[in-house]
Amino acid sequence: MFDKILIANRGEIALRVLRACKELGVPTVAVHSTADADAMHVRLADESVCIGPPPARDSYLNVYSILAACEITGADAVHPGYGFLSENARFAEILGEHKIHFIGPKPEHIRLMGDKIEAKRTAKKLGIPVVPGSEGGVTTDEEAFKVAKEIGFPLIVKAAAGGGGRGMKVALTEDELPLALSTARTEAKAAFGDDAVYLEKYLQIPRHIEVQILGDGRGNAVHLGERDCSLQRRHQKVWEESPSPALNAEMRSSIGEVCAKAMREMNYLGVGTIEFLFENGEFYFIEMNTRIQVEHPVTEMITEIDLILEQIRVASGAELSLTQDTVTFNGHAIECRINAENAVTFQPSPGRITQYHPPGGLGVRVDSAAYAGYTIPPYYDSLMGKLIVHGKTRTECLMRLRRALDEFVVDGVQTTLPLFRTLVRNPSIIDGDYSIHWLEKWLASGG
Ligand code: ADP
Repeated sequence: MFDKILIANRGEIALRVLRACKELGVPTVAVHSTADADAMHVRLADESVCIGPPPARDSYLNVYSILAACEITGADAVHPGYGFLSENARFAEILGEHKIHFIGPKPEHIRLMGDKIEAKRTAKKLGIPVVPGSEGGVTTDEEAFKVAKEIGFPLIVKAAAGGGGRGMKVALTEDELPLALSTARTEAKAAFGDDAVYLEKYLQIPRHIEVQILGDGRGNAVHLGERDCSLQRRHQKVWEESPSPALNAEMRSSIGEVCAKAMREMNYLGVGTIEFLFENGEFYFIEMNTRIQVEHPVTEMITEIDLILEQIRVASGAELSLTQDTVTFNGHAIECRINAENAVTFQPSPGRITQYHPPGGLGVRVDSAAYAGYTIPPYYDSLMGKLIVHGKTRTECLMRLRRALDEFVVDGVQTTLPLFRTLVRNPSIIDGDYSIHWLEKWLASGG
């Protein structure tokens, strides 16, 4: 096991990683910007180092400050959390060059999956079903029209370096294609510094279903079931649940096994998520994320497997302690991402939390770094915390979620709690009958 783990992140995920380290008995180092000096993970870590001013590029994204913090404290491993440097292959390599372990996949796998065109090509080779689309990148209108002829409309133009729902443009007809292509390229260049784009068939009413995998880099890998993340706003997940209301046990184990087999073939190390769109009983790969995801707790709740702990164990060189037949799925879990935002306009609402009372009781988990008196800084994302609820059945889970949401008190800042209180009572949500477009349509119709 590692001697000391530096947590290169902030907010709820920094606290989540810290908890796993404590349970493993490994000393921790928190790093923080000047805006986060009062953060909960900083208070609870064994040591802390200020790595720069508030803007992320000068602190949480500053590779050399983080490296210096490792050297000062003697940390021999870095957990990157999600976002920031978590999918930066160069960061993983630089740590390696300094004999510091990156708690994540091998750099070549991060790089491969970070290029969505290459990722799709690899997925296809490994026997994972993909969305029909262009074979590789598309640059000219002629190339785009050629692909359109083969797969038809509507089409979606996507950035090869895309992430966070950015750099995507839909073309419903031939007339819209040139503009979709040029705007997607311009946006991709501006957002990611890379204007490579590709085309995909635009699926009409799919669900977003993703498979959690875990590998040890020595040819062992398992899948830990799926998460249904179809409730989205602007391609960003809002509510996630497992199991998916749309899958049966047979579908779960067959897509899960396809993914686990692919990971065994790759010798994949660490946790990862293989994302699919699901329509008319078919799965279509869209991308793979090579990090721990925001919504990982729903999987933890139904499998009782601590994903961060397993991630640290395999990164330290341990063999996978699980086999597929020891993984069991119990009950149902739902996560709500509670943002410090106005629940109607979604305008961020940073500021001081005056009162904070999280819900409790059986089957209720709150992953949040918030506390009464804490000031949410305006510099970072608006995730205030995640409420995750477990029940023996989906119905029990929904009733528990309802009461947990009603118990949750956050004063001083606005939150999206009221949105979830309405959603949990909506008949379509109760029936599990929603696609990736449901939430936006419902919001547009006035909720
Ligand atoms: P990002 O990496 O930016 O999150 P993804 O490829 O994971 O991008 O897609 C994010 C979301 O965009 C999906 O969950 C889905 O809602 C929508 N989307 C992406 N590709 C398609 C497609 N081919 N058809 C329909 N919707 C899509």
